Amino acid sequence: MYINPNIEAALPQLLEVLPEDRVVTGDKTDRFSKDFYWYSPVLKELLEDKRADVALLVTSKEELKSVVSLLYTHDIPLTIRGGGSGNYGQLVPLYGGAVIDLSKMDTIFSVDGVVHAEVGATLRKIEVEARKQGWELRCMPSTWVVSTIGGFLCGGSGGIGSILHGGIVTGDNVKSVTIMTMEAEPKFIKFEERDSLKALHTYGTNGIMVEVEMRLGKAYAWEQLIFTGDDWEALLDWTFSIADDKAIIKRLVTQFEDPIPGYFKPMKKYIPEGKHCTFLMVDQSNIENVIASAEAAGFEKVFQKPFGEPPKPPYITDYTWNHTTLWAIKADPAMTYLQCGFGVNFKENLRKLKAKFGDEILFHLEMTLGNAKFKTDATGASVGGIPLVRYTTEERLNEIIDYCESIGVGVANPHTYTVEGGGVHEDIAEKRQLKSEVDPKSLLNPGKLATYPDNPFAEKSA
Ligand SMILES: Cc1cc2nc3c(=O)[nH]c(=O)nc-3n(C[C@H](O)[C@H](O)[C@H](O)COP(=O)(O)OP(=O)(O)OC[C@H]3O[C@@H](n4cnc5c(N)ncnc54)[C@H](O)[C@@H]3O)c2cc1C
Repeated sequence: MYINPNIEAALPQLLEVLPEDRVVTGDKTDRFSKDFYWYSPVLKELLEDKRADVALLVTSKEELKSVVSLLYTHDIPLTIRGGGSGNYGQLVPLYGGAVIDLSKMDTIFSVDGVVHAEVGATLRKIEVEARKQGWELRCMPSTWVVSTIGGFLCGGSGGIGSILHGGIVTGDNVKSVTIMTMEAEPKFIKFEERDSLKALHTYGTNGIMVEVEMRLGKAYAWEQLIFTGDDWEALLDWTFSIADDKAIIKRLVTQFEDPIPGYFKPMKKYIPEGKHCTFLMVDQSNIENVIASAEAAGFEKVFQKPFGEPPKPPYITDYTWNHTTLWAIKADPAMTYLQCGFGVNFKENLRKLKAKFGDEILFHLEMTLGNAKFKTDATGASVGGIPLVRYTTEERLNEIIDYCESIGVGVANPHTYTVEGGGVHEDIAEKRQLKSEVDPKSLLNPGKLATYPDNPFAEKSA
């Protein structure tokens, strides 16, 4: 493993800025250097032995500024960590150096229609505070209990709520972001409205995000519902009709193919074996008509509980989005996943995939308003998802990806650690331009913005 030779010289100076218990070295940096990259057998092999040389636990902007300045002076690469719940090794440092943990920079300044917060605030903390004032997050990942708002903006895309408000980058969801530059004298730069998008989803390669403003939605009284059915396509027709009905206010519309629900151990007491399932969060004003329409279509309600005020477990969100993959891997370590947009002809595409791959692919569908990852129109329901794949070899995985693309199913490949490899970035040139302005020595998470021409560590043995 490559160890940055400049750390030794920088350490005494770092210890002048931070107390000893917030400067972590040796093997203990491991826990600050990892995310959920191991979901991917491909990334597991590539990233297993990578870790930072030093982890720095920073609690204020002032400390952050001093630490960043020192790292810059010593040419030490820097990766930022929020809640550490990212996938794809987004925060795994490829060339050692420093990880700065910002989870304690978590002040929420206000939640009045817009949340204005420091980046380390968890989405759970924001959701709870916002709900007290009649607001809620417009979208949040299924990891909302542990993820930070900074990590979500720098590594995530959408999730719970995306059926109502779209993803992070949809419309006016993001009001502003403030980043710190990686320089000897770090500066703060605030980007407003859609100009801020160039600083998002770049794994911390083009600025250290310090504050964000995100617009909130009106808080609803959410009810969590689960329905089961025997006929996959009939259930899909019904689930999509709920997703696409503007009169039904919903926060989550998820459909699972049997045997996926069987992987959800704590839900076994509710969900009978051998059934396909739909998980919904709908506003209380819609409960009766949703249940009536499910029953009329022949589906059985097997679970019903309010989300709670304040939210209280059990949360059905714990089984949706990329939590599904976690339950599947726990039950069967041979499982991995893809992230797909199934297109307007989703039924036909799902049929083709099933015919070609059988149970090598298991369908987990997430319905959203448009699909920011796949640039689909944001005015109607869109069928995407995180299908499970029974992994055999990387070649086979790539064959499946190639086939998906050949029939018009978009894939955001979760088996690569680069920004470009993992999704569609029409503004990649702007992202690179921003990096050139705020990271003159290319020290921020080097190697992750693959098309950036300058990586001073590229020759180092990784
Ligand atoms: C079980 C599971 C379920 C998930 N479900 C979803 C989902 O529903 N939707 C979704 O979008 N994602 C999902 N994810 C991915 C992940 O949880 C989200 O992206 C989450 O928002 C990341 O937040 P975090 O605070 O943990 O970020 P981290 O993992 O700490 O960081 C993510 C990336 O952002 C960078 N970063 C973090 N903070 C900053 C900062 N202040 N400045 C600059 N760069 C920064 C990191 O370097 C890293 O590259 C899931 C992951 C798992 C493991």
